[in-house]
Amino acid sequence: MTATSRSPWVLHYDGSSCNGCDIEVLACLTPVYDAERLGVINTGDPKQADIFLVTGSVNEQSKGVVRRLYDMMPEPKAVVAVGICACSGGVFRDCYNVQGGVDTVIPVDVYVPGCAARPESIIDGIIRGAAVLEEKRARMRDVKCSVSKS
Ligand code: SF4
Repeated sequence: MTATSRSPWVLHYDGSSCNGCDIEVLACLTPVYDAERLGVINTGDPKQADIFLVTGSVNEQSKGVVRRLYDMMPEPKAVVAVGICACSGGVFRDCYNVQGGVDTVIPVDVYVPGCAARPESIIDGIIRGAAVLEEKRARMRDVKCSVSKS
């Protein structure tokens, strides 16, 4: 089974950024980078998504939204932090209302550094997120099997 044996359904949210990384996320969907050739589907519905792509740092206003979107996504799910702001707070780290990177609110599976993160790196992060999903799916299957045998 490969990392892309299923189409990764991606939900994108900007926690608080300069929008530089958001533009690069959009670039991934253009014919130039064509993330769709790898089966990547961009969805606005957290209940249909299995990869949460977050750009920007998390601040007082956005942290609740990040948490709610994450909670609405079904299991298994993977989180990809895109850009140094999402990874650690980046250039906004010391702002009075900034809490830090995405992992201060929800667990992050893949970190994509860069300012801005390059489209190639973002697509690589999504594929790595898809690999994490495969591992989580396999673990869930193992747990179900051991419960049904007992
Ligand atoms: S990492 Fe750079 S480009 Fe991306 S949101 Fe932060 S400041 Fe903007």
